[in-house]
Amino acid sequence: MFKYHSIAQYHQDLLSSTTTCVEAVQHYLQQIDARRHLNAYVHTYAEEALQRAAELDASRKAGKPSGKLHGVVIALKDVIAYKDHPLTAASKILEGFKPVFNATAVERLLAEEAIIIGSTNCDEFAMGSTNENSSYGKVLNALDESRVPGGSSGGSAVAVQADQCMVSLGSDTGGSVRQPADFCGVVGLKPTYGRISRHGLIAYASSFDQIGIFANNVPDVALVLEVIAGPDDFDSTGAQQKVDAYSQLTPLPSKPLRIAYFKEALESPALDKEIRQSILDFTQKLQADGHTVEPVDFEFLDYIVPAYYILTTAEASSNLSRYDGVKYGHRNAGKNNSLTDFYCATRSEGFGWEVKRRIMLGTFVLSAGYYDAYFTKAQQVRKLLVDKINLIFSQFDAILLPTAPSTAFKIGEKTEDPISMYLADIFTVFSNLTGIPTISLPLFWHTNGMPYGVQIMTNQFSELYLLQLSQSWMQQFRTAG
Ligand code: GLN
Repeated sequence: MFKYHSIAQYHQDLLSSTTTCVEAVQHYLQQIDARRHLNAYVHTYAEEALQRAAELDASRKAGKPSGKLHGVVIALKDVIAYKDHPLTAASKILEGFKPVFNATAVERLLAEEAIIIGSTNCDEFAMGSTNENSSYGKVLNALDESRVPGGSSGGSAVAVQADQCMVSLGSDTGGSVRQPADFCGVVGLKPTYGRISRHGLIAYASSFDQIGIFANNVPDVALVLEVIAGPDDFDSTGAQQKVDAYSQLTPLPSKPLRIAYFKEALESPALDKEIRQSILDFTQKLQADGHTVEPVDFEFLDYIVPAYYILTTAEASSNLSRYDGVKYGHRNAGKNNSLTDFYCATRSEGFGWEVKRRIMLGTFVLSAGYYDAYFTKAQQVRKLLVDKINLIFSQFDAILLPTAPSTAFKIGEKTEDPISMYLADIFTVFSNLTGIPTISLPLFWHTNGMPYGVQIMTNQFSELYLLQLSQSWMQQFRTAG
């Protein structure tokens, strides 16, 4: 029977003929079928995945050189373009749409011989924290089906959690990779803004959006990042910085580290007591190992969620104006008296409630009379946060923060109260406002039986360092469930 541990182990097993790519794909297709009700996938590409697997097996057996992701079975969040395959952002408005090009990340995965097995469910246009805002219905947390998997990349998190693929891609605008990773007990990385090209990623809030990676372990994340990161002529906001050999993951030299945590975050009344305690215990273990761990004042905690929701809804209202039913996607079939009536009818039918709420909020904060009061102010907060982060990283190597204030919510727990849902993003939005790389590591288990993690943040473009640190902490501190 096929059993997955890591990409490196899988590659060894392929070389020793203990397994094949076809066997791997068959295994995942069975796992997906056996737990369809989790609703992690919106589309699976069984036949073509099996065919590609057979081709890869043949090429390997013929002694041809293999790509870095040879036969690695990967799922894509339904916001990442895979040429000629459905792409809908879990929205009715993109019903029937198929992109005519691959996202750059997908192009690079395929060039290194990955196998795309399907597209995963998510909150509509990546707006949400529970995966309950999807036109395909909610996704269930595989560890407790009465709970949400988190969002917006809930399907991608569950696909890895429930052994329905090896690795998956998601997108993270305000926590949508790290928070579901935390709720599902897997590793989730949001790289530095611009590290991975956004070409072919459906835009939610363009100055925040970043493709992220879910996996069972840090080396898998590192290898996939190495393949998909780097400059791209199709994304002018993509970073030019060189891509390190992330997959090398050489252990860090054993020298004391300087680690900061936000005092106000750990004192926040919204934070579950057990989570607070385990983060404090964790800081003590690090101190016992000779590292400096210090609280730093973070006076902006109350402002980050409002600033995030003002800026992202503003950007979303502009980005989503392109969905008008004229060129692609859903269009209203009725008889309309004017083009405006047609747009209204199409958009009213096509968008779900959360997306409509955000378009309206964004239009409001951008309106002439309120622009300075909201949008400009939020931009100023963002600038203060960037200054703050620069100051912190001049004194510290890394920042620790809980990933979420609680473990996975019960289904429906927060759907009636959008504000409480937004507030639960309190610990994740910071890294998107400042653009720094952040990972969520599944180190802990709650007495309620659910996993949870800790976020590690490091300076811009220091992914190699972040991954090295993560690998050593996963080995040293991960507790068994
Ligand atoms: N929960 C956040 C939001 O709803 C984050 C979404 C995301 O990162 N895509 O905006």
